[in-house]
Amino acid sequence: MGLPEPGTYGDPQRNGLRAKDLYDAVVEHLFYSIGRRVPGADRHDLYMALSYAVRDRLMTRYLAGLDAVGTSPSRMVAYLSAEFLIGPQLGNNLLMLGIQQEAAEALKPFGINDIDDILHVETEPGLGNGGLGRLAACFLESLASLEIPATGYGIRYEFGIFDQLIRDGWQVEITDKWLKAGWPWEIPHPDQACFVGFGGHTESHRDQHGAYRVRWIPAEHAIGIPHDVPVLGYRVNTCNRLRLWRAEANDSFDFQTFNRGDYSGAVEKKVGSETLSKVLYPNDGTDAGRRLRLKQQHFFVSCSLQDMIRGLDARGIPVQEFPVHWAIQLNDTHPSIAVAELMRLLLDDKHLEWEAAWAITTACLSYTNHTLLPEALETWGLDLFGSLLPRHLELIFEINRRFLQQVRLRHPGNEGLLQRVSIIDETGGKAVRMAHLATIASHHVNGVAALHSELVKQELFPEFAALWPNKFTNVTNGVTPRRWLALAHPALDGLLGEVIGPDWPVRMEDVRQLEAFQHDAAFLERWSDCKRSGKQRLAAYILRQNALAIDPDSLFDVQVKRIHEYKRQHLNALQVIALYLRIKNGDTHGLVPRTVIFAGKAAPGYAMAKLIIRFINGIAEVVNADPTVNQLLRVVFLADYNVKLSERVYPAADLSEQISTAGLEASGTGNMKFMMNGALTIGTLDGANVEIREEVGDSNFFLFGHTAEGIARLHRDGYRPWERIAAMPLLQEVLGLIGQGHFSRGDRDLFQPLLNNLSGPDPFCVVADFEDYLRAQQTVASTWADRRRWSRMTLLNTARSAYFSSDRAIAEYAEGIWEVKPVPVAMRSLIEA
Ligand SMILES: *Cc1c(COP(=O)(O)O)cnc(C)c1O
Repeated sequence: MGLPEPGTYGDPQRNGLRAKDLYDAVVEHLFYSIGRRVPGADRHDLYMALSYAVRDRLMTRYLAGLDAVGTSPSRMVAYLSAEFLIGPQLGNNLLMLGIQQEAAEALKPFGINDIDDILHVETEPGLGNGGLGRLAACFLESLASLEIPATGYGIRYEFGIFDQLIRDGWQVEITDKWLKAGWPWEIPHPDQACFVGFGGHTESHRDQHGAYRVRWIPAEHAIGIPHDVPVLGYRVNTCNRLRLWRAEANDSFDFQTFNRGDYSGAVEKKVGSETLSKVLYPNDGTDAGRRLRLKQQHFFVSCSLQDMIRGLDARGIPVQEFPVHWAIQLNDTHPSIAVAELMRLLLDDKHLEWEAAWAITTACLSYTNHTLLPEALETWGLDLFGSLLPRHLELIFEINRRFLQQVRLRHPGNEGLLQRVSIIDETGGKAVRMAHLATIASHHVNGVAALHSELVKQELFPEFAALWPNKFTNVTNGVTPRRWLALAHPALDGLLGEVIGPDWPVRMEDVRQLEAFQHDAAFLERWSDCKRSGKQRLAAYILRQNALAIDPDSLFDVQVKRIHEYKRQHLNALQVIALYLRIKNGDTHGLVPRTVIFAGKAAPGYAMAKLIIRFINGIAEVVNADPTVNQLLRVVFLADYNVKLSERVYPAADLSEQISTAGLEASGTGNMKFMMNGALTIGTLDGANVEIREEVGDSNFFLFGHTAEGIARLHRDGYRPWERIAAMPLLQEVLGLIGQGHFSRGDRDLFQPLLNNLSGPDPFCVVADFEDYLRAQQTVASTWADRRRWSRMTLLNTARSAYFSSDRAIAEYAEGIWEVKPVPVAMRSLIEA
C-alpha cells in the first residue's frame, strides 16, 4: 500500500505527484497535446491538460500491472455489463492518487483559485440508465482498490442516457453528446479490433478426422474497436481497465455496389454497422425485445470473449485452461448470450468436444439477477433470434435438449416441470428465456440483497433452486465510499480523516468508531456542521438551477432515482399534498419546515412516469408560490439526474425516501449512499432497506408499509383500492383536489390517468400504504424537532454503514464466486523494464 515517492520509478518528470510536477505536466500538455500557449488557455483547455497529466500517471501504473499479472498466474475477473455509469473521472482520479491538494496548487498559477471550476468542465459519460450501471462502476472501483485484476467489458455508446430538461413541468429529452468536446480518459486500440458476425446460415460437415463440424456463414460483420478507460484503485498501484467496444463497419465501403452506381446503398451498409454502438436504450429495466438491442448485446459479448481467448493464445496458454484465467460475471441477462457464444468459439473455432466446451463454459460463468419484474425478464422471439444468430440458436436448442433430459431422468413424467424450466418458452409465441440460459450455464446465480435473493429462489426460479440448491446465493450490493463519501462530501471526509485516520475510505469497518461520539455534544455539533455544508452547497445549486431559494435549515427530504411506479414517487407526492392541505387548514401543530426534493429521469416511452414528473412540478408550482405555505413547505424537482448531480444531493440529504412497493426493488444502492452520508431512511421492508434497518437498528429507521408477503396477500385476496379510499377522508380530499385541477392550472383531465390508476387497479399499492406512510412522516417530523437526537441518529447511520461498502460486496464475490485473490502491483517492475 502507499505510492512510491515521486521520482523512484519511470521518468520523474512524467510521473511526479508534487504540485510542481503537475504544473509542468499541465504546461507541457497544453503545448504539445492541445496546441495552446498558457496565456490563451481557457478552462476547458486546463481541464484537458490536467486530465492528460493525470492519465500519464495512471498509464505508468497500468503497465506495471500488466507486468504483475503476467508473472503471477491469477484468475482475472471479466465483468460483463451493458452499462457502466462511471461518472466524472478527473476529480475521482485525483482522489485515488492522493493529489487533490497538489492539483489545486498546480492550477493556481493559471488563475484558478477553485479547482471545482475545472472539475465541473467535465461532461460525464452517461453509459447507463441508473442503479445497475452505477453498480458496475462501483464494483470496478472496488476491484482495483482491493488490488484484484479485472476488466470491465461494455459498449462505448456514442449517445448515452439522454439529458433531461424540464419545460412547462414536462420532461424533455435531449441527446447526450458526451464526446463532443473530446473525452481524454479513453485510449482506442484499433490494432485489437474484433470481428462479429450477424445473420446468414450454418453449414455442417465431417472434418478429416470424421468429427461433426458446424460452420456459421454470417451475412454481415461488424468490427469492434476497444476503447480502454483506466480504473485506478484507492492509493494503490492497481490500475484495471474498462474496455468499451465501439462498432465500425467492416468495410468503409462496398465498392461493388458503388461501382454499379449505387452510392447510397454502399454507404447504407457502413451506417448500419456503426449504428450498433450508437445509442444506449434509455429504458431502465423494461426492454421490449428489440432487434438492435440483441445485436448490441451479441456485439459486445462476442468481442469480449474473443479478446479473452486471444489473450491466452498470445501467451501460449491452451484454451482448455480458460477457467484457470478468467471468471466471467454476467451483470443481469444483458450479456447472457455469452453462454452460447463461448460454446460456439470453443466448438467451432477451437474444435473442442461438447463436454469439454460445456465444462469450460460452466466453470467460468456466473450470473447476477437484478429484477423480478416480469416485464424486465429478457426473452427473444425465436424468429428474431434465429435470423440474427442462427448458430447460437442451434447451440441453445442443444443445451436445452441435454438439460431437459437431465431433468426428465430426475423427475420422470413431470411434463409441467419440463415446460417451466425449459430455455424455450412455448406459451404464446415461442421465445428464448435468457434468464434460464444464464441460470443453467452459471456455477452461481446471485440476487443483490438478502430479501431479493430469497425471492429469486422462492418466486422466480423455484424449480432451478430445487434442482441446484447450492447454485443460488446472495451478494448484497454495495457502493464505493471513495466517490460517495470522500469525494462527494469533503467536509465529512475531513472529519473522518481526523477521527479514523486518513485511510478511512479503505477501512470502512473502523468508521464504527464514530459510535463513541454519539453522546458528545461538541462532536455532534461538528457532525451537523458537515451536513450543513452539504445542504448549503445544494441550496446554492437549486438557486442557480431552479431560481428557487430554499432554507438550508429546513429538513431536506429527498427522493432521487429513476421515475418508476414501483418506486412510488407518486406516494411521496400525495403525502406532500396532504401536508399542503394541513398547512392551508391551519393545522400546523407538529409540522417542521421541509424541502422536498425530487430528481430522476423517466423512460421516454413510459407515459405514466412522465406524468408523475409533470405532477410533481405541478405541486411545486402551487406550493412554492403560496406565501401561506412556503415557509413550512417547498418542493423542488431537479432536472437531469446523473452521477454529477447525485454527488451534490446525497451529502445534502436529511431524509432518504426508499418507499418502493415491498418485494419490487431488488436492492437499491441510492439507499446506501444516503446512509453513508448520514441521512435517515424512511422506507419499506424492501431490497437492501431490510439490511440497512438491521445494521442501524429499528429505532434509527422510519419503517412503514406492507411487507412483501403482505403485498402478495393483498393481491391474492382481491385488492380493492376504491373501497379503501372510501374509508379514508384525507386521501379523498387529496385526490379530489387533484381532480379539480388544483395542481394543473384548472385542467381537470391532465392527471386523470394517475387518479384512475390509483383508484382502479393501484398495482403498486399506493393506497394501501398511504396512511402508514403519513404516520411515519409524522414520526420523522417529531424526531427532527429534537435536533440532538436527530444528529445522533445520523452519526449512527454513517458509523454502521460499512456493510454497504462495495469493498465488502466485492470481497464476497471474490471469495465465494470468483475464487480470485489480490495481486499487488510493485512499481519496481517498471524501472526494470
Ligand atoms: C445510485 C444511483 C442510482 C440508483 O439509485 P436507486 O435509489 O438505488 O434507484 C441511479 N442513478 C444514479 C445517477 C445514481 O448515482
